[in-house]
Amino acid sequence: MSTPVPVSFEFFPPKTDAGYDKLLSVHTELKTANPEFFSVTYGAGGSTQERTINTVIELNRRGVPTAPHLSCIGATTETLTGLLDHYRDAGIERIVALRGDLPSGMGNTGGDFRYASDLVAFIRQRYGDRFTIEVAAYPEMHPQAPNFDRDIDNFVTKANAGANSAITQYFYSVDAYKHFVAEVRRRGCDIPVVPGIMPIINVSNLIRFSDACGADIPRWLRKQLEACSDDTARIQAIGLDVVSTLCRELLDDGAPGLHFYTMNRAEPTLAILDRLG
Ligand code: FAD
Repeated sequence: MSTPVPVSFEFFPPKTDAGYDKLLSVHTELKTANPEFFSVTYGAGGSTQERTINTVIELNRRGVPTAPHLSCIGATTETLTGLLDHYRDAGIERIVALRGDLPSGMGNTGGDFRYASDLVAFIRQRYGDRFTIEVAAYPEMHPQAPNFDRDIDNFVTKANAGANSAITQYFYSVDAYKHFVAEVRRRGCDIPVVPGIMPIINVSNLIRFSDACGADIPRWLRKQLEACSDDTARIQAIGLDVVSTLCRELLDDGAPGLHFYTMNRAEPTLAILDRLG
């Protein structure tokens, strides 16, 4: 590859001290790939609030900009202002702004925001250009959307509310990404849409996640992975081939960068980057 491709890496906030220590060493390893930023997820309804804040601020202090994910469903203007003030004062410059999903059993807690576009508009109105704002995109359609066209219209409304850039849900079909970007551009929206890349590490987890978030594992890939049974090395070898090829095709097609769902591990992501040269 002649010019370096911008990459970013996503973590989830660890639940235990051991997980946290491990994350710090994974962070050190991934820093060698010169990421543009790291991001840390946030349990909707604030369920990981403290762990997300602490992780983001510590990683940001370690030299590479780090972006908290922030979901607005069930939140009040007051709580989000408190959080955003805190991030601003700690030197955080980028936010991944989301609606989120309330955990089942939490019911409808009310709150001042309905969609991620409300959060984007709120951040812009209150903080001007202080934060770079990333939003989520769904090349295979958000699972709750009534149809693909409406989902893209809603995405464009969210982008126009003041987002700088978008990160997609993961997918394994280049055509889905190309179609999504073409439809977004057709509506006059030109923000970068960065593919979200999920390395293949564990088949049952991947199938479970994919069913929950509406990401498609194509039949040709699912069948190959299922045929591996418990042969982890074989699964990871197939995953590495498939995901590296996906990344290569996306970049050849003009994708502006790659955002890796690292699952708090360094080697699967670094192996893909290594293949890409
Ligand atoms: P929105 O953009 O608000 O869209 C949600 C749904 O509402 C869509 O179906 C959309 O079509 C529809 N919609 C939007 N606007 C309107 C409107 N005006 N009228 C009618 N319908 C509308 N979840 C977490 O809990 N924590 C995380 O850290 C997290 N990180 C993520 C990171 C990425 C990159 C991605 C892709 C997803 C992430 N998620 C996370 C999951 C996300 O919270 C869920 O997918 C959630 O269901 C939707 O969030 P959103 O920000 O995309 O919502």
